[in-house]
Amino acid sequence: RAAAQNLAKQAEAGVPTIFDKIVKKEIPCTSVYEDEKVLAFRDINPQAPTHIVIIPKDRDGLTQLSKAEERHKEILGHLMYVATVVAKDLGLKDGFRIVINDGVNGCQSVYHLHIHLLGGRQMKWPPG
Ligand code: ADP
Repeated sequence: RAAAQNLAKQAEAGVPTIFDKIVKKEIPCTSVYEDEKVLAFRDINPQAPTHIVIIPKDRDGLTQLSKAEERHKEILGHLMYVATVVAKDLGLKDGFRIVINDGVNGCQSVYHLHIHLLGGRQMKWPPG
């Protein structure tokens, strides 16, 4: 818990997150979609046959969803739309799940807003 809160503080202070390093190509990723605003890549620890992480290239204060402000509405909508494009590209025709973990109770571990796109198996509800 303390470690997660510390990660959040570092990101808020502008310390680059692992996802900033992926955007700058300092850390490799398996990209599945990219445009000028957004990058999508395969999760390193997949929780489903298809598990993609979709991020804004510029964090712009969005360490987590609950930090969203009026100016973020456009990028938030774009991220959600890109999730549907990637789901189609990857053939998730029987459905999928998108998840945003927020903060300590949400089990967020990387403080750079991201959407998880999960598919390729039957999901359960409620989530853990
Ligand atoms: P959680 O780790 O609880 O899922 P998050 O919602 O913050 O919390 O998700 C961060 C995700 O980023 C995790 O699914 C993790 O596997 C993934 N991840 C971490 N480092 C990398 C990396 N270098 N490349 C791809 N995915 C990564």
